[in-house]
Amino acid sequence: MALKPVCECSICSHLSELQCGFQVRGREEQDTFLPESAKQLKTVKELKYDHRQVIQQCAECGTYYRLFSEYEFIIGGSNDEQILTRLTDDEAHWSIENPNQAPK
Ligand SMILES: [Zn+2]
Repeated sequence: MALKPVCECSICSHLSELQCGFQVRGREEQDTFLPESAKQLKTVKELKYDHRQVIQQCAECGTYYRLFSEYEFIIGGSNDEQILTRLTDDEAHWSIENPNQAPK
């Protein structure tokens, strides 16, 4: 159960259901980033089936998120990508209890 509605949370009210960030070295003027609020989420579980993914939780309202982050090295530069997805409590609890399995 969420402690308070997402829209009233000082952290989550700045985060939508899906947030993306993408940075390319040498093309910084087009870079996008996750909102600052995303940095306030706490990692509660690292998923074993995919090292790029962690479950995060908002300390203020208890809402769960899945953060996917990938660093890709390419010739002449690199790509960084982050995807933050809001989870339901059921989805988050399942992933926390089954860190070795991809969600169905
Ligand atoms: Zn929140």
